[in-house]
Amino acid sequence: MNIPLMDLVAQYRSLQTEIDSAVREVIEKGSFVLGPTVTALEHEVAAYLGTSHAVGLASGTDALVLTMRAMDIGPGDEVIVPVYTFYATAEAVAMVGATPVFVDVQPDTYCIDPIQVAGRINKHTKAIIPVHLYGHPADMDPIIQLAHAKGIKVIEDNAQSFGSAYNDTKTGSLADAGCISFFPSKNLGGFGDGGMVVTNDPELDDRIRMLRSHGWKKKYCPEVIGYNSRLDALQAAILRAKLPHIDQWNDARRELAQRYNQSLLELGIVVPHEAPYGRHVYHLFMIQTPHRDHLATSLKDQGVASAVYYPQPLHLMKPFASHGHKSGKFPVAEKASGNLLAIPMFPEMSHDQLDYVVASLKQAIVSAPGANS
Ligand SMILES: *Cc1c(COP(=O)(O)O)cnc(C)c1O
Repeated sequence: MNIPLMDLVAQYRSLQTEIDSAVREVIEKGSFVLGPTVTALEHEVAAYLGTSHAVGLASGTDALVLTMRAMDIGPGDEVIVPVYTFYATAEAVAMVGATPVFVDVQPDTYCIDPIQVAGRINKHTKAIIPVHLYGHPADMDPIIQLAHAKGIKVIEDNAQSFGSAYNDTKTGSLADAGCISFFPSKNLGGFGDGGMVVTNDPELDDRIRMLRSHGWKKKYCPEVIGYNSRLDALQAAILRAKLPHIDQWNDARRELAQRYNQSLLELGIVVPHEAPYGRHVYHLFMIQTPHRDHLATSLKDQGVASAVYYPQPLHLMKPFASHGHKSGKFPVAEKASGNLLAIPMFPEMSHDQLDYVVASLKQAIVSAPGANS
């Protein structure tokens, strides 16, 4: 059996009629960038997440950049980010000219540690960007309390957790702004790049709308230096066809995760943690093992895909070398970078496929050098 890490075509197959006709309609109308289809998606995503506003953009990275620009965050400012996340979270901070300030993550959820956030706030701190990593929400209440007591903004990086919830509130709608990515592999993915910001702040919405179209409200009358960062109508049409199914797909991921958990715990593998406040939507299913490289090779030999996310925490990446952080500074992130492995997880995965992954892992563990853990 060959099992991919994820299947980006399965959802097209299951919704082919709707998606084909939605795409054809956009092409026949001839309105390709922004326009009524994008506006409709903005309303639908805002309604789904429970915010008053949503702005469609070209990517999740741009969602972070334009949000910070709209908040007037720039040179001289500091923004607190988890040291263990996809590079774009911190890259976006640097792109607006501000300085990302790294904080270690929690050992169970791999999300930013609120207690350590408190220690990094100073008079330059303008925002905190908690990342809901791998489908699990960051612990938001203490972060929001801390930030708002000091007049600091909170921007949720919700790229990996569309449909997740913190207590009973959808991630992305908890703070000042929520940034979404529609990159094809995300839980709600288009057939290309795309992104969105959701917020309850009408002024922020207004400023991001201006920034996404060259910094103008009235055509050819720019007010600031902006961007060309607009969601296109083809992506919006595809996403509109997919959105009504997101809960069902996330539920399928949760059901598969439960099946994984039962079998993998018996094998002594550390499976993803779900905090009491969280609804995990398993964007990725990460296992923790000291024998990662051996397991990955053995899985590959048995036809099972796996992948390392993220091989390096941000403080050890070249673009942030000037911060002068050494290895050992953020132990939880460094351990996660060394030990975590993503195994196949997608809503359409069958129980047979999942059981084959488990059997392959078992085989891999038995053959691990000097391993019986
Ligand atoms: C994917 C991702 C982004 C960036 O989204 P793009 O649409 O690829 O630009 C930002 N943050 C996190 C955590 C992501 O996973």
